[in-house]
Amino acid sequence: MSQPFPTISDQKQPQAWAITPNSQALAQLAKGIWECAKQTNQRPLVVLSTAGPLIGVRAALEQNRREGLPNNIAFLPQVISFTDWLEAAPGAWKFPKKQSDLERWLSVYINLRKHPKLKTWFKAESDSGAWGLAQAVIDACDALSELVIPQLQGELNVLFDTHSLDTEAWLKKVELVLDQAIAKAYVGLSRNVVDEESAVLLTFWRYLTSIGDPVIRKHLAMAAHLQAAKENAEKNHGEGRPFIWVQTADPKPVEQELIDHYLSEYAQFAPVVRINLDWQTVALWPEALCGQDAEGEIIIADTSEEQQVQQNIHSSRHEGWRLLAARRFEELAWVAAKAIESHLLANKKKIALVAQDRLAARRARALLSRLGDSLRIRDETGWKLSTTRAAAAFDSLLELIRAPKEGPSASVLLEFLQNPYFDLAHSLQKSPEVCLGLVAQFEDVLLASQAKSGWETFVAAIDKANGYASTHGGSPNEQLIELIRFAKKLHLAWQSPLLECSSAYTQLQNHLQDAGMAQRLEKDAAGKQLLEVLKRFDLSGGLYKDLKMRLPEWLSLLKTVIEEASYEEAGKEAEATLSILPLSSTRLREFDAVVVVGCDEQQLPAFSEPPLFFSDALNRYLKSSTITAQYIQQARDLSQLLVSCKNVDLIWQSKSKSGEPLRPSAWIQRLQAMLKKKIPWEVVEAKLKPYEGQSQPIQKSVSIPDSDLIIPKTVSPSAYKALRDCPYRYYVSNLLGLRKAKEFEEGFDASLAGQTLHALLKNFFQALKTEEKKSHSTIHGGTDARRQWMIDHLMKFSEKEFEKLIAGDARILGTLRDWQKQIPSFVDWQLSRENEGWHYHDAEVPIGFTLTITDPDGVKQDIRIAGRADRFDIHQSVASAAAVIDYKNQKIKKITQRAENILDDPQLLIYARGASENPVEARIPGREVEQAEWVTLRADIKNAEKIIRVHPVEDMSGVMAEFSEQVVNDLNDLWAHKPMPAFAPDSVCQYCEARGICRKGMW
Ligand code: SF4
Repeated sequence: MSQPFPTISDQKQPQAWAITPNSQALAQLAKGIWECAKQTNQRPLVVLSTAGPLIGVRAALEQNRREGLPNNIAFLPQVISFTDWLEAAPGAWKFPKKQSDLERWLSVYINLRKHPKLKTWFKAESDSGAWGLAQAVIDACDALSELVIPQLQGELNVLFDTHSLDTEAWLKKVELVLDQAIAKAYVGLSRNVVDEESAVLLTFWRYLTSIGDPVIRKHLAMAAHLQAAKENAEKNHGEGRPFIWVQTADPKPVEQELIDHYLSEYAQFAPVVRINLDWQTVALWPEALCGQDAEGEIIIADTSEEQQVQQNIHSSRHEGWRLLAARRFEELAWVAAKAIESHLLANKKKIALVAQDRLAARRARALLSRLGDSLRIRDETGWKLSTTRAAAAFDSLLELIRAPKEGPSASVLLEFLQNPYFDLAHSLQKSPEVCLGLVAQFEDVLLASQAKSGWETFVAAIDKANGYASTHGGSPNEQLIELIRFAKKLHLAWQSPLLECSSAYTQLQNHLQDAGMAQRLEKDAAGKQLLEVLKRFDLSGGLYKDLKMRLPEWLSLLKTVIEEASYEEAGKEAEATLSILPLSSTRLREFDAVVVVGCDEQQLPAFSEPPLFFSDALNRYLKSSTITAQYIQQARDLSQLLVSCKNVDLIWQSKSKSGEPLRPSAWIQRLQAMLKKKIPWEVVEAKLKPYEGQSQPIQKSVSIPDSDLIIPKTVSPSAYKALRDCPYRYYVSNLLGLRKAKEFEEGFDASLAGQTLHALLKNFFQALKTEEKKSHSTIHGGTDARRQWMIDHLMKFSEKEFEKLIAGDARILGTLRDWQKQIPSFVDWQLSRENEGWHYHDAEVPIGFTLTITDPDGVKQDIRIAGRADRFDIHQSVASAAAVIDYKNQKIKKITQRAENILDDPQLLIYARGASENPVEARIPGREVEQAEWVTLRADIKNAEKIIRVHPVEDMSGVMAEFSEQVVNDLNDLWAHKPMPAFAPDSVCQYCEARGICRKGMW
């Protein structure tokens, strides 16, 4: 039973009233407010200490409207939250400018620089850690201000009373009063503080506190309201407008003191009613009923209080409570989703999901999304903006900006270019058709050359690809270079060691515009909010406009601010609404059904992270929130929820991640124990319905190519090797054309280096040929002179060719140095080869041969088997002899293994046959290839005597005959569409891209 509303008297003291926080709480409150209106004949001002119940109170006032009230209160009483009321303070325009969170962080940053003592303490922090700490420092400073500033309230009131029209002078006075109060309090507090951490914090507090702080503004606003109440009372002959304060949650002691004092002062000018919550008939546990004492300890219940609690439990609507247990996380989310679904089926429209376990709530939300638009989901737990696609896209730009001066890694660059908000056509000022597939082509180029980082490397890779295209009948793509130029321009603009925050903001905005991202973000709900958050960084007109910081500091500040921001989903009309919220947000709100997920002993109650700087004892001293206070508040919130809502499902995970049993929260167990005496409150074990089905063992994969499947008429050496290694793999990769999305492997890969070695060797030998034609060249001065010339020039060519790559990725320098160590022995090998009569003739020569086979329809098909030979040598004294050489950037051991399986990897045989059959095409007219060799570019040079540089193909004519027969058979089988089985040794399968398709390992 709630108490009757008090009779408003003119005793100039606040009057107290209490409502019972059960299902009728809002109606009781509304009736009380109307009663106040009736008694005073005025429209009361109702201020709620928290904003959550605002809409509910307004709706209840409308429903409980009383008849016969005078015209001046025809409107609903004004209901406002405390925060909004402070914002609406009269004359707020002349308050000191409100500092944004960002500005406060920056003030921590500046103080760190100014005061070496603080800097020493912070020096271990990384950029992002320091900003996190800055937030903690600000919170702690606010807690200190909360304690100290109330002592100022009297002086602030006087200042309002005697304020002059000169706002500046008034502000100066306020500042002076504040300074004096802080200096005084600092001395007092310092005496109480012994440890270094708190001493540092106090120093911060002293330096940071300014009149733009929220705590100071709060007190100024309260003083302004008080002044307005006074003036109003004077104007109306002592009849002030009634002020109703509704305490919706237990205040911190410091707030309690403040509001008690304030209401007493306000009561001098207007009727004041303070409304509390009365837990007498609602509390389901003694701590919820008794609360804490002045020392902050829980009050032990006496017998009558114990009995009261028992009575509350037995008279509660426990038949509507369900206790559901799930064993695993996935089951937990599934049970929560099912529970919500059952409420929807029972035609419940307003449902709450209390997210004690936030992860499970998120998962349940994902499961519920299949219900579509008929269910509107409002996440009040704060969905982080940083988890949206828009923020990820923006982050890709920041990653590009923060890349080292040589340039970003390929994955960072591709991440940026592939973000959906990047407008390529806009960036390059080209038509969308021109840009079609450009980024994909760029990715292919980088992957093919394994160009992993650095602008120079990327440019070199594109140059190579374009060069190849122009010499092979394709057309080079100039847009690729423009693409690189654009990204490089963005990146280079951020290379100064220190940047001015205000111009950095302008530059960032310009870059968002240039990349077309601003325009696309503007069209997206999350993107719009992101752009709004970024506007906070516009410091151009403020105190910090000249502030400079390092790029990493500025970027991590940017990221931290985005990380803090919440994403607000746009609301849409739906048949039912599900609100995902924390327990505290259910206070004084009405729901048709509530599902609480995460009711295990570890998550209910849940305590907020303890402040970084304060112990629980220090919190008590500062009259801040303590663990005990949070514990009591949650017991009350849960009592209120269970008592006021008809259907409450309490769900918990009965096994922890480590498989240990988890019990439900102690509060639930205590309720179970109490209810057991009357009716048992059973736990319902969630059981997922198993799906039944019969499995069949998977057989080895075999594919029969469809008769319509086009079979390529050209076969490269690597494609033929794939066919020999595993026909199924050839089917997947060469016939179906399926490719795994390629990735850049960690570390530097030798592909680009391998290509570069090939190119520089070609250039070197061409230069050698030219030099030999000069009659006076030192090269003709004997073997030593020739050797020296070759070593010097090969060194020089290597430096030159690798230069660009090293500029892009300094790690490549190691590869160059390794190769340069090889050069003397490589030259020795070349000289000994020359002594045998073999001379370099040509390099990078496209060569192949044609086979004619008959397909199943009896049609003759010409199949071209061709590739590009690394090098041809010719013999000086045998006019018909030529040799083919393949450079391998591999150890000789690998080459020996390769040689053992030459019929499965017959690259050299293909070149040899091609050149012998078409000597003109191979540019060796009149000659035949007699010798084929692999030459390693990574020989073991530790022992100069035992260096093995070369491995020849043995018994050339014998293997060639075998190969020629084999290749005809293989191609006949292929064209006959014969079954293509999956078989290969594990060494091949290990790197096979088709493994996921052939499912090797399952059979
Ligand atoms: S994993 Fe092995 S068996 Fe399967 S397709 Fe690849 S190479 Fe063939």
